[in-house]
Amino acid sequence: MRSWFPKPLERWKSRNMKLACPACQHWASDDVFRRGRFMLGEENLTCDRPCGKTNSLTAWRIHGLAKDQMEKLHEEMNAMQAN
Ligand SMILES: [Zn+2]
Repeated sequence: MRSWFPKPLERWKSRNMKLACPACQHWASDDVFRRGRFMLGEENLTCDRPCGKTNSLTAWRIHGLAKDQMEKLHEEMNAMQAN
């Protein structure tokens, strides 16, 4: 019985990952983030914005990462244009 190990580790690694709704592309609200941060990838999280769609935590995390990267890219582009 060693299977207890990977799940707490996954929870620990992913607890600070940003979450974005795969359906409406908005950041998770504080409530949804609090609910989602300790869930596992295969668990489902429901958006509390008007879209109200339910998706797996993995999908929320992938969209959070992508949105985060896009926003950083936009900041860099804006900084370049300002020079
Ligand atoms: Zn949504």
